[in-house]
Amino acid sequence: MEQIGKIRQSTGDTLAELIERGRIMGKENCIFCKIANGGIPSSTIYEDEDFRVFLDLNPATKGHALIVPKVHYADLFELDDELAVKAILLAKRLAERMKDALGCDGFNLVQNNGAAAGQTIFHFHLHLIPRYEQDGAGIAWNPGKVSSEELKELVQLISET
Ligand code: AMP
Ligand code: ZN
Repeated sequence: MEQIGKIRQSTGDTLAELIERGRIMGKENCIFCKIANGGIPSSTIYEDEDFRVFLDLNPATKGHALIVPKVHYADLFELDDELAVKAILLAKRLAERMKDALGCDGFNLVQNNGAAAGQTIFHFHLHLIPRYEQDGAGIAWNPGKVSSEELKELVQLISET
């Protein structure tokens, strides 16, 4: 915080301006900022002004790819609303393309937020994972149990209405 204060004094920027500029320039040492903006080569399957989509280096299945915005957002909580809409529409288009091109039998869209949720690269990304019968990718959870009281309590806690 002290350092931000010093930068603000020297540039006269507001905190919001500094954050925004950091985003536009990309986060230092963020590998997905570098890949998305072409600084590091990748197996790119799609690119436009907002996103680069490239193949995952440790794929869960054949064709596993990542939709990555060119601007840095750590996760879903930070992600710009307009980009969120664009990302899901792009995911839909590319899933259709992969289904035709790869002949996959199913499809997972996966998006991890926070270390507790398995996020390892802290730059928002959407996993496109084509699925094949018996591919053994194991993207699953153990079904738990919940009581009707807990369900009611959760509805109260989470519900927006
Ligand atoms: P997550 O665990 O949701 O943060 O996913 C990060 C994903 O990025 C993993 O599936 C990694 O295999 C993938 N990954 C990490 N570094 C690279 C890279 N340089 N190129 C392509 N994929 C990568
Ligand atoms: Zn980044």
